[in-house]
Amino acid sequence: MFRGKSCSAEWIRSRRRDVFVTKPLRQCSRNAIGVQTASDASINGDREEHDLCNWDELKFSLIPTDYMYVMKCSSGEGAFSQGHLTRYGNVELSPSSGVLNYGQGLLEGLKAYRGDDNRIRLFRPEQNALRMQMGAERMCMPSPTAEQFVGSIKQTALANKRWVPPPGKGSLYIRPLLLGTGAILGVAPSPEYTFLAYASPVGNYFTGSMHFSVEDKVYRAIPGGTGGIKSITNYSPIYKAVTQAKAKGFTDVLFLDAATGKNIEEATACNIFVAKGNVISTPPIAGTILPGITRKTIIEVASWLGYQIEERAIPLEELMNADEAFCTGTAIAIKPVGSVTYQGQRVEYKTGEGTLSETLFRTLTGIQTGRIEDTMGWIVEID
Ligand SMILES: *Cc1c(COP(=O)(O)O)cnc(C)c1O
Repeated sequence: MFRGKSCSAEWIRSRRRDVFVTKPLRQCSRNAIGVQTASDASINGDREEHDLCNWDELKFSLIPTDYMYVMKCSSGEGAFSQGHLTRYGNVELSPSSGVLNYGQGLLEGLKAYRGDDNRIRLFRPEQNALRMQMGAERMCMPSPTAEQFVGSIKQTALANKRWVPPPGKGSLYIRPLLLGTGAILGVAPSPEYTFLAYASPVGNYFTGSMHFSVEDKVYRAIPGGTGGIKSITNYSPIYKAVTQAKAKGFTDVLFLDAATGKNIEEATACNIFVAKGNVISTPPIAGTILPGITRKTIIEVASWLGYQIEERAIPLEELMNADEAFCTGTAIAIKPVGSVTYQGQRVEYKTGEGTLSETLFRTLTGIQTGRIEDTMGWIVEID
């Protein structure tokens, strides 16, 4: 769809110059899970699903798939156009692109689920589109329309359909990116943008729980910062804290609010909920936590189940005295918190059978895979 001259002309020029060339990646994966090579000849499903991957050993790690979706925009135009699927592969960038030099970029994450009926579903993809738009506004970037975004996700999932794991084995994780790809030397918004979506099959996280180390020196987000959007700049600054915690045997770090250092915020890439009696509490959306779509969904699901939901500041002390705690995010769905350690003090929580997080997990994943009827219009069936 041509939105205007300058954007489409820029797109055609950039195609001719091959500034964003994609090179087919022939290897399926070099990792240890016994994945076989996906040759070009095997694209449209002529390879049986069961010999494509060892579906039982999927983790949350990259397995390159067949296609990705690319769409461009010059800032003069302000709108994206000419989106298309292309073979998955490396991208070429100007050394002076805004994303490489100044971190002007956003990410998203959502999944395509294969149900017992073999149909493939997306879960609330328009929410990811809206969140990308909010982030783009904050980072001075144009963004795809919700229609373009959801359309690109459907196309990416369908083009890589053979990589959507069988029911119960996992899902196809789709990673949209919005990047300042135009060349710029001065510190300023990029003159050209690229939207890109790629996919990788990932495993389930039915088992295990989170063992948190509460971080009291490094802060993930500050008031007025970008902690409330999925900016690519939010993640590497916390690698050091997370790496150190993992070296001590923790699963992840739990961050406190930078303003007071007293209230819990969230983990590296998931939101947190605290349960006590009939009350479920979670930190509020106030710019320093990421407004998770799973978080938003769980708030609704838990209130149907009769729980009282409170979105408010939660002192660490309250978490340390909770009955139960759990985390939410697209990658993990819902995962119980097994323990929290703060300055040498460790608190443990009940996990597994009969817990609230287990009930919520079953309800959420039931809706996502079509086992539980979707009465909310959250599901987008794509085949
Ligand atoms: C993506 C993300 C989440 C979870 O959001 P969902 O929409 O539920 O996947 C939570 N916290 C951070 C920091 C994130 O990046």
